[in-house]
Amino acid sequence: MFNEGMKLAENVRLRECIQGTDNDVEPELSKQAWKTLTRSQVDNLRNIAERWQIVRDHFEAAYKGIPLRLVVKCGYRPISWEKSKGRSGKSQHTLGKAIDAFIEIEGEDRTKILNETFDFINKNFSHGGRAIYKKSNFIHLDNRKKYEDWKGD
Ligand SMILES: [Zn+2]
Repeated sequence: MFNEGMKLAENVRLRECIQGTDNDVEPELSKQAWKTLTRSQVDNLRNIAERWQIVRDHFEAAYKGIPLRLVVKCGYRPISWEKSKGRSGKSQHTLGKAIDAFIEIEGEDRTKILNETFDFINKNFSHGGRAIYKKSNFIHLDNRKKYEDWKGD
């Protein structure tokens, strides 16, 4: 069993990449994720958390004085979970190599910051997958070997 409070990056704990911040992820997903998590997935989560930390540091500094949070909603998802949702089970999330994160801010245009986040990622990370979901207000970031980008709803 892994410690929920384990530090993956300066400001990212294991808990956040398994059950989201403030328990956003469905409790059943979180339960299955804790049960199936392996050492190699934790290592992968550490790598993607370190990349996310760079994004988080940049935006928290850029919007200093404004309460802005770049919150991980979802990281590792078990293959069994993905299949139960009718998905292929080949998502980078099943390897612990991906996170979905959203912007939490009051009184500012969230979509604007989401766009800025996506631009920042594209400028600073040359490999891996990245996607922007404007309607759902989140960014997907992963550590696949090659570059890939897409837009979702
Ligand atoms: Zn994702």
